[in-house]
Amino acid sequence: AVTIEGVTKQFGAFAALRGVSLEVEPAELVALLGPSGSGKTTLLRVIAGLEEPDGGEVRFDDVEAHRLSLRDRRIGFVFQHYALFRHLSVADNIAYGLRARPRAERPSADEIRRRVGALLDLVQLVGLEKRFPGQLSGGQRQRVALARALAIEPRVLLLDEPFGALDARVRKDLRQWLRDVHRRTGHTTLFVTHDQDEALELADRVAVLNDGRIEQVGTPDDVYDHPETPFVCGFLGESN
Ligand code: ATP
Repeated sequence: AVTIEGVTKQFGAFAALRGVSLEVEPAELVALLGPSGSGKTTLLRVIAGLEEPDGGEVRFDDVEAHRLSLRDRRIGFVFQHYALFRHLSVADNIAYGLRARPRAERPSADEIRRRVGALLDLVQLVGLEKRFPGQLSGGQRQRVALARALAIEPRVLLLDEPFGALDARVRKDLRQWLRDVHRRTGHTTLFVTHDQDEALELADRVAVLNDGRIEQVGTPDDVYDHPETPFVCGFLGESN
């Protein structure tokens, strides 16, 4: 489980997170839904250890996150704008995190090949392993990014608008595909989106953020049928 307890984060005088608490259960997929600037990315960055919180704490099971080095956190991160290595093939991109481990923890070359093969299969890119990112579609690149994130056997998977840059039809296909991958691999996942339909279709629970606070957390049905605050009601009403 990932436990977020009373996390606050200031940027100068601006409070980006104002006391966020959320528990993500093992194998659960929680969508963070909220308008631009509500603090979604900042929250993911705090969980990943890329930002230090000013107050509160993050725990992975019972381990306080700040006690772990960035590498030992074992976070799988996928960003909106694919951060693939352009000069590396698909297979080498996926293997990157495994090869970057210190020698004592690095799997053998055979084992890496085996894992990359299994991941290519999972993300349905068998046959494209020798291509370079520039020779892939946007959707294919995001599937490589997900395979690369999964290669390190992450404790937590953080997906920040992973389909945000893609067109509507590709997004819809990838949504269904991600649901299926999540069901099969069972990673504890936080998925950032400002797209309600995406949140509704993908998530076990939805957390609605506004202005650095969580306004409501619940199953998609709960949140949509029983919005608890005027903000949630207005935000969900906007494009329905
Ligand atoms: P979006 O959907 O647009 O990505 P978001 O909900 O992910 O928005 P954040 O990126 O978390 O929002 O940003 C929350 C607020 O914190 C924004 O107003 C942003 O300008 C501010 N912010 C984020 N990072 C920094 C920083 N390094 N320095 C100053 N302000 C920052």
